[in-house]
Amino acid sequence: MSTATEVREIPAPPIRQTGILIGDEFRPSVSGKTFATVNPATEEVICQVAEGDTEDINLAVHAARSAFETGPWSRMDARDRGRLLHKLADLTERHLDELAALESLDNGKPIRDAKAADLPLVIDCLRYYAGWADKIHGDTIPIRGDFFCYTRREPVGVCGQIIPWNFPLLMTAWKWGPALATGNTIVMKPAEQTPLTCLRLAELALEAGFPPGVINVVPGYGPTAGAALVAHPQVDKIAFTGEGSTAKIIMRNAAETLKRLTFELGGKSPNIVFADADLDAAVAGAEFGLFFNQGQCCCAGSRLFVEESIHDRFVELVVARASQRVIGNPLEEATQQGPQVDKAQFDKIMHYIERGSDQGAECRTGGRRHGQRGYFVQPTVFTGVTDNMDIARDEIFGPVMSILKFRDISEVIDRANQTPYGLAAAVWTRDVQKAHRIAASVRAGTVWVNCYDVFDAAAPFGGFKMSGMGRELGEAGLANYTELKTVTVRL
Ligand code: NDP
Repeated sequence: MSTATEVREIPAPPIRQTGILIGDEFRPSVSGKTFATVNPATEEVICQVAEGDTEDINLAVHAARSAFETGPWSRMDARDRGRLLHKLADLTERHLDELAALESLDNGKPIRDAKAADLPLVIDCLRYYAGWADKIHGDTIPIRGDFFCYTRREPVGVCGQIIPWNFPLLMTAWKWGPALATGNTIVMKPAEQTPLTCLRLAELALEAGFPPGVINVVPGYGPTAGAALVAHPQVDKIAFTGEGSTAKIIMRNAAETLKRLTFELGGKSPNIVFADADLDAAVAGAEFGLFFNQGQCCCAGSRLFVEESIHDRFVELVVARASQRVIGNPLEEATQQGPQVDKAQFDKIMHYIERGSDQGAECRTGGRRHGQRGYFVQPTVFTGVTDNMDIARDEIFGPVMSILKFRDISEVIDRANQTPYGLAAAVWTRDVQKAHRIAASVRAGTVWVNCYDVFDAAAPFGGFKMSGMGRELGEAGLANYTELKTVTVRL
């Protein structure tokens, strides 16, 4: 493991926006309150950000409603909406280094991941949905009698979007792309831990020429700003990514106004390695599938099932890779693993590591805090994990790998499905029959075969069971943001 623990001083990116965006103006909160956003690598405050609350949400919703009902947005050609999204993508590309550094600073993710994964996926998502803007249309339907019947796909209206902190900019793009392509307006609440890149992207959206009120951003806390957005009668839909328990609260609070809801929630995804797999590729895939983004991925391959006959060799290789990961200052190009996003997440992960050992799993590497400053956790690998242990059941959201042994395909399918989650799964094998059998049998929204974490704006993503409702990305993502209208004309 790298000993480069000390976070060296590296020039921080500029902080340009810390206000609430309502209409075309970044402003302080109505209450005047602010909250601190913290650099998780140093535990130091980066800056204060305006703390939105009910009154700010009311103003933002009013701006979004006006833009939707009467503003230039409501009369704009679909092609022009597409052009604006393309312009935002171009501006994002132009500011890639700055946005990647800001994301790294606020979230703690290695800058090389932000540059190679987050930002390219953001740009791709905006361009993909820019292309859809003028291709969203209904059908003509041959109904009985002398009638002409057709359908129209119309925007849902004002969309409340609530996102988490693990991929702040990417989650923003996943939410904005389809909502804007289909002609909706937005009030977004970014996560309290990581508001900075969303605010900067909003500034770039104004520069791109999005009309005032189309995109509004209200940083603040979930139980105040988030809850006010969910309860607001003028908000037509809530799109949420985060924890299942929060989704349940949102569902209850949205019931009063019967809002449309889409959820992208957590997971405990099985990553299944058969003895006939390309061992080196499977080991690399297991490492990437779990440790990428400090393990803070909803689709992390956090239940690693390894076939008995290759188990010991596999463990040896994966432990070697985990223990060689370079931990350190996320702003340094060489860093592979940064800190967890905040103290609450750090504490939660350390608790699960303790539970793992207490419940009888064997910690083969890691298991401790890394360094003295910042929320760094050593890459940790547990073997001897059984299905009923907490580390095999709960979403840890950290760099903690749990390895479980299996004997045959029927057994592993059964065990892979013994979870309330169903977000993702992966299988490593050279046997095409096994691969397809797993793909068909595992109850999950995404199955990767001989790969992990392959994302594309065109491929739908979302969960079965308690991992979500609806799909993001792809053509499927558009359905979340349109209402279907049937028009019948007497001939
Ligand atoms: P949350 O689900 O609480 O947060 C996600 C977003 O929802 C944040 O913007 C949050 O605001 C907001 N929110 C919280 N409460 C409400 C509410 N009552 N009404 C409306 N919005 C609300 O996740 P956490 O950040 O607390 O993380 C906890 C755990 O959730 C993690 O350890 C991990 O297991 C899981 N998680 C899963 C993610 C995924 O992608 N599936 C992403 C992030 C976390 P605020 O910023 O104030 O918290």
